[in-house]
Amino acid sequence: MPNPPEVPKLAALTLEVTRTATARYLEDGDAARWEKDVSTALTRGHMAAYISGLAERDTGGKIRAFLSWFVGDWALSKDDRQAIKTTVAEQLDYLKRFVDIAGDLSEDQIKARADQYALATKQSYWQAWAGAELDCLPGQCEECYGNCRCVLRREADGIYWDCQDDAHSCASCRDRGAMSPFHSMTEED
Ligand SMILES: [Zn+2]
Repeated sequence: MPNPPEVPKLAALTLEVTRTATARYLEDGDAARWEKDVSTALTRGHMAAYISGLAERDTGGKIRAFLSWFVGDWALSKDDRQAIKTTVAEQLDYLKRFVDIAGDLSEDQIKARADQYALATKQSYWQAWAGAELDCLPGQCEECYGNCRCVLRREADGIYWDCQDDAHSCASCRDRGAMSPFHSMTEED
C-alpha cells in the first residue's frame, strides 16, 4: 500500500522551506536565523500533517480538521493539541542540538540531516490518524527516521505496520511489520 497522498505533499512543502533556510545558513553562517526559520517550518509542517491525519481518523476527526482550517487549532480536542505540542517540542529540541553541532559537520551532512527533520513531519500525520499511543510511528523510527516509507493500516483487531515491498524498509521496521497486529486495539484503547 503506498503512502496516502497527503504525506509526500506535506513533506515536499516542509522540505522546500527547510532547504531554502539551510542553503542560506550554509552561505552566511547565521545559525540563529536558520534555527528560527526551520523551527517555524517544522511547527507548521507538524501541525498541517496532524490535521491531515486527523481528517482520516473518523467522522469526528474529519469535522475537527475541517473546522481547524478556518478557526485554528482550538477546533482540535485538548488531547490532540497536547499531542502536537509534545511532538513539536521534541523536534525543536533535536533541532537545537543539531544546530549546536552543525559547525562540526560537512555541508552534505547538514543538508541530509535537515531533510530528516522536514520528512519526520509524517509522524504527526500517523499519530493523528492512529488516535492511540503507538510505540513507534512511520517517520519516528530510530533506524530510518524521516526516510521511513512504511504505512499503518487499521483492522478490527488493531493497527498493522506495513512495510513497502522494496529495499527501503529498515530491519526495525520489518520487525514491526512482522507483528500482527503492531498495536492491538484491545490492549488499552
Ligand atoms: Zn525504520
